[in-house]
Amino acid sequence: HSTKKEKMEQTFIMIKPDGVQRGLVGEIICRFEKKGFYLKGLKFITVDQSFAEKHYADLSAKPFFAGLVEYIISGPVVAMIWEGKGVVATGRTIIGATNPAASAPGTIRGDFAIDIGRNVIHGSDSVESARKEIALWFPEGPVNWQNSLHPWIYE
Ligand code: ADP
Ligand code: MG
Repeated sequence: HSTKKEKMEQTFIMIKPDGVQRGLVGEIICRFEKKGFYLKGLKFITVDQSFAEKHYADLSAKPFFAGLVEYIISGPVVAMIWEGKGVVATGRTIIGATNPAASAPGTIRGDFAIDIGRNVIHGSDSVESARKEIALWFPEGPVNWQNSLHPWIYE
């Protein structure tokens, strides 16, 4: 049973420019690491307008789209791939609700943000968008490695 090959999910997590500027990079990575998820990709980059528009293409009709793109390109971001059982949904739980005012304490947005337009972090909302976002941000693919703690995290 302990050698069960569960299909490990991957999600795309991005620490937004406000999270970087406010020195929350370590704290945020810490929460995903301590939970037991595996880091499979990491880059520290500033993206340009057309890239940000691609990332948020689904929101292009929203009134806040232009401001959102401006926010995302305003400084460097930390782009990551995290892997683990149910990491897409659990990642969203760790992050909290879109509006920090509705995010529970103990979540990243609940603990560190106030305004919806400065909510510190992005996480894929489905396995399908995770796949698309990972392909956009990590065309070279994830870094593959084996975690020796695996049998201590998974039954
Ligand atoms: P989430 O990031 O929780 O998946 P959405 O995909 O709905 O949320 O929106 C993407 C991002 O757009 C949000 O994280 C937030 O930064 C911004 N955003 C969403 N709604 C608003 C809004 N009403 N006003 C300003 N910015 C918004
Ligand atoms: Mg979203």
